[in-house]
Amino acid sequence: MSLLVTGSIGIDTVETPFGSRQDVIGGSAVYFSHAASFFAPVRLVGVVGEDCPKPLLDVFRGKNIDTAGLEIRKGSKTFRWHGSYLKDMNEAETVEVDLNVLAERAAKIPPEFLDSEFVFLANTHPALQQETLGMLKSAKLVVADTMNLWIQTERAHLEKLLGKVDGLVLNDGEARLLTGQKNVIVAARDVLKMGPKFVVVKKGEHGCLLVSERDTFVLPAYPADKVVDPTGAGDSFAGGMMGYLVSQGNLSSAALRRALAFGTVVASFTISDFSLAGLTAATREQIDERWEKLKAAMSF
Ligand code: AMP
Repeated sequence: MSLLVTGSIGIDTVETPFGSRQDVIGGSAVYFSHAASFFAPVRLVGVVGEDCPKPLLDVFRGKNIDTAGLEIRKGSKTFRWHGSYLKDMNEAETVEVDLNVLAERAAKIPPEFLDSEFVFLANTHPALQQETLGMLKSAKLVVADTMNLWIQTERAHLEKLLGKVDGLVLNDGEARLLTGQKNVIVAARDVLKMGPKFVVVKKGEHGCLLVSERDTFVLPAYPADKVVDPTGAGDSFAGGMMGYLVSQGNLSSAALRRALAFGTVVASFTISDFSLAGLTAATREQIDERWEKLKAAMSF
């Protein structure tokens, strides 16, 4: 089974009540690929500008991530995001965003990636998500992520994309914004009418919700006692979820539920430190240990 991800690869500056980091590696595809690589090999497709400091890209070294689809585009500038959690640890406030290369065209997909069966369209411009999807002819499961910026500014592109994906992952605020519904369950059901067969609504420290035609499932977050930087939690959640699904090779309700739990656990490592530090320090054994703990904590 092959898992391909495309999304943003960027340079982040982040402030939280526990400190700040300037010009660190970030981006949806970066967090996703690291998280998913605990479970399955990952094919990364993304683009940075020629200004991207080479050491930032060293994070992929020695990982189960094939970077043949990582383009360093001449004459372009890397995506940059500056976020702050000083007001609310549950929601990033975007202080500044420079789309740069994300406002151009999608990265080329290497020929050896074209047979990818599992595809995750991590958060990026919905036009780029569609462009990438259009090149992949063997996709069996396509799941996408998005964010408030695109819901507000690129709705037409986003609606088109939703008609082409099997699953959508988004947070509760985004689900409300997309549908105009206050109740997240109703919002998730409305999203199903837009195309996806299942919707995962992330609710930060309050866990997540899976809604499909055949299932409604709620899961609390892992009771994390160390939350330093929430950046990338959503992408890591999606990476853990998709990576596990690929490793199982089936999409039964039970596999999806277990996948959500792995996503939750992987995200708990991401938020324990800045940038990728929490995730890169984690091991598969620690992930499995927390997964068992979460399972036990849910038993009553
Ligand atoms: P998350 O905390 O999981 O929602 O994702 C955080 C990552 O998303 C950061 O590392 C940012 O670089 C990236 N990001 C922020 N805004 C955007 C955007 N408009 N498009 C793509 N990626 C973004």
